[in-house]
Amino acid sequence: MKITVDEDKCCGAGSCVLAAPEVFDQRDEDGVVVLLEAEPAQHLRAAVREAADVCPAAAIALSEA
Ligand code: SF4
Repeated sequence: MKITVDEDKCCGAGSCVLAAPEVFDQRDEDGVVVLLEAEPAQHLRAAVREAADVCPAAAIALSEA
């Protein structure tokens, strides 16, 4: 799995950080998402899918490459 995030779409809601705190963080100054792990380990993938599902801005894209 590969993750990409679109910082321009991100509205700083933080839902991704709640769902998968090992993979996503937020910038202190504006809350925009910070991707910590672009290629997450197997055990994190369900949480990453949930994070992408709950993102209100659809800013998280997943690929199975
Ligand atoms: S859930 Fe989406 S909009 Fe909210 S911080 Fe994460 S990427 Fe940004």
